[in-house]
Amino acid sequence: MNVMNVDKIDTDAPLFAPDAFRLTDAQAELLAKARRFGKRVLAPRAAKHDREATFPIENFRDMHPEGLLGICIPKEYGGLGADYQTYSLAASELGRYCGATALSWNMHVCSTLWSGPISDEMDMPADERATHLKRREVHYRRILDDGAVYAQPFSEGGAAAAGAVAFGTEARPVDGGYIVNGKKIFASLSGSADYYGALCTRRAEGEEAMRRNTLYLAIPANAEGVSVTGEWDPLGMRGTVSRTLIFKDVFVPDDAALMPPGVYYQAVLRWPHMFLTLTPTYMGLAQAAYDFTVSYLRGELPGMPPVKRRMFPTKQLAVAEMKLMLEQTKAIWFQVISEARPNPSKDSVMRAYAAQYTVMENANAIAVKAIRTCGGQAMLKSLPLERIYRDSRCGSLMLPWTAEICMDRLGKETLYEPGEKDE
Ligand SMILES: Cc1cc2nc3c(=O)[nH]c(=O)nc-3n(C[C@H](O)[C@H](O)[C@H](O)COP(=O)(O)OP(=O)(O)OC[C@H]3O[C@@H](n4cnc5c(N)ncnc54)[C@H](O)[C@@H]3O)c2cc1C
Repeated sequence: MNVMNVDKIDTDAPLFAPDAFRLTDAQAELLAKARRFGKRVLAPRAAKHDREATFPIENFRDMHPEGLLGICIPKEYGGLGADYQTYSLAASELGRYCGATALSWNMHVCSTLWSGPISDEMDMPADERATHLKRREVHYRRILDDGAVYAQPFSEGGAAAAGAVAFGTEARPVDGGYIVNGKKIFASLSGSADYYGALCTRRAEGEEAMRRNTLYLAIPANAEGVSVTGEWDPLGMRGTVSRTLIFKDVFVPDDAALMPPGVYYQAVLRWPHMFLTLTPTYMGLAQAAYDFTVSYLRGELPGMPPVKRRMFPTKQLAVAEMKLMLEQTKAIWFQVISEARPNPSKDSVMRAYAAQYTVMENANAIAVKAIRTCGGQAMLKSLPLERIYRDSRCGSLMLPWTAEICMDRLGKETLYEPGEKDE
């Protein structure tokens, strides 16, 4: 046993070193802020919310004065104006300290990313765009001035969340707005969000339900007819509190729309990287599992006796394998978040599927290896690794790009060009 003091390695170093990854000074500054916030605010609270399966709303309250609730709100409205790549990098930094907060933050941020920079790149008539700009300002003011928190429930338990059919939650047009009816499962932030950014199918009397008529509506949590049901006691990501939402004859005004009618569907076809935004959390978890292992084997983990285990060749081999997996994951992920744009090539979309699969599967594989390598004490609930292990297992299950769906598309789209069939 070696109990000598050592110079500690920095487990809070940037996940993507600004000089190596050619980040701008502004990006580096924002990422450092996210990292400081994660370490100071998220990490100390993560174990309690995981144990109790409670939502860390105080993390979101603390994000407000830091500007983090408005990270993707364009600067002209007073937000931080982060682009897709910058947001993804910031979310990966938060994911290192609390997966559940980073994942829930993603749901909130997407309501601003989709209505903001992504909508700006979609086609729409000038009058529709003018209305959209006015409407989104209402949401942005609520977030920036009042600290409002938005959820993003789209899953329903059927084929809609995978993009196969129209959403079963329907918005019937009425005078001045819509009447919404439906059910959303796995609604992260349920019971804590101020608004539910729900995807629903606009469907008038006698009209067929069509994907192109998807609406993205911000439904106030306190609107009549909104309720939260069901238990929440899952394997991992327990702090997301993703219970079931019921909408029963909920009236929402026209200006609740986060995107104009038809624009969500256009974005699905033209901005597919919008579905990659669940990966940053898991990129952060992969780094956290690796950092834990290095720290543990060097005898530097806070709260643990300074016992070194690094001298065993089996440990060195395991860490080498983890490092390989981590660098491979970081490389493909950084590439895809950097090439995200409208109308990507087929090659770019295929790489996005490959990155999604790689991040989600490797985050868990690295956590599995971390537990085996560090040994029995590493899986105690007094340490963060077993939470990272459970949280990381959830990544592959997230629709619309589950690990299985990514594999399915990679195989099919490699061998078949659009329209090709076998006799
Ligand atoms: C911690 C956590 C938080 C979540 N938060 C949110 C949230 O905030 N908002 C939200 O909308 N959703 C959220 N989800 C839901 C998530 O995105 C999925 O919708 C959910 O996990 C699907 O579960 P299911 O059992 O209904 O899947 P099913 O639809 O029953 O699918 C089961 C599996 O079958 C495969 N499959 C499904 N459809 C196809 C297809 N067309 N082709 C090939 N394979 C297919 C997939 O691999 C899938 O994993 C969350 C999930 C978790 C675990």
